[in-house]
Amino acid sequence: MSSIDYKAIQDALTPEDIKRILSTYDVKPYIEAVNYIVFPTVCHNLTGGSPKLYYYKDSHLFKCYTECGDVFNIFTLLVKINKLRGTPISYAEAARQCGIHGLSFLEGGRIKSVEDDINYLYNLLKTQDVSIHLPTLNDSILDRYIFDENALKLWVDEGISYNTMRKYNIRYDPIENAIIIPNYDINGNLISLRGRFTSADSDVKYRPIIYNGKVLSHPSSMSLYGIHITKEAIKRQKLAIIFEAEKSVLMMDTIYGDNNTAVATLGKNLSMQQIKMLLKLGVQEVMLAYDADYTDYPTMELKRQEYQKIANVLKTYFNVSILMDLDFNKLQYKDSPIDRGKEVFEELLKTRIYI
Ligand SMILES: [Zn+2]
Repeated sequence: MSSIDYKAIQDALTPEDIKRILSTYDVKPYIEAVNYIVFPTVCHNLTGGSPKLYYYKDSHLFKCYTECGDVFNIFTLLVKINKLRGTPISYAEAARQCGIHGLSFLEGGRIKSVEDDINYLYNLLKTQDVSIHLPTLNDSILDRYIFDENALKLWVDEGISYNTMRKYNIRYDPIENAIIIPNYDINGNLISLRGRFTSADSDVKYRPIIYNGKVLSHPSSMSLYGIHITKEAIKRQKLAIIFEAEKSVLMMDTIYGDNNTAVATLGKNLSMQQIKMLLKLGVQEVMLAYDADYTDYPTMELKRQEYQKIANVLKTYFNVSILMDLDFNKLQYKDSPIDRGKEVFEELLKTRIYI
């Protein structure tokens, strides 16, 4: 497992960022010169430090000229300050605090609004519970559909076992000729039904189910498909693998069973609500397992840039990697990384790219 790119965060921080971060600890500079800023020696003094802690702008490093007599970066300084104050934090937590501030710099201010969102939500996360209650459906609505092994064999052929389908309450609608996929919130409340329409003449393969004139959908940004089941494995492994579609989560279940840490976003968008859910489960590592919608290097590079934007938001909180078919020889066009089975998936896992 790789780690956070501490050096990149450290080097991305501007003198303004350093001052802002330290001001949240009530640490104000004594003086600022062109090449350095002088702070009180909060590295070893709880109160009344002397003006002997220098921050050098070019090297992004601090030097304490008195007791510590040492050179260290901003993360180490935050660790020292918090230790002195009796609220110890890890190096990674210190970096995380700085990463948030560094984000606008990393993206040249282009995703400023995202940064604002993150800061807002991060503060909210620390201070209060912001659980959003989606309207829930009555489970009995599933009674109108059947578990028809013949009709569901279509998915067995694609690598989803009947056991998995039972576990996730997959059903079949013989009238509409559709496989019914129930969506649950993290607590196992039914929030929507999607249909996979199997007739050759259906113009859209996937769409929400309409029942008694009511569209049984939910805003996909408000939940993660599969999380009501995979949350235990996610908690245990502090890892979440994010796919685009429900079927991938189901295939993962058939292969990995109770160790499945997959969820699906039903598209590529990832919301702060979803990030918050993962944080609450203690996730430290996120792997993006998107469909292979590229067939050559130019389109792959475009996709990689698209993923990078998503990853930039995620990496404030998690170690982030992406599974890609770098040699175009493991997946077919539009395949999910799990579509070709366990062996191919685990090869893609081995060559995942950390960003
Ligand atoms: Zn010191």
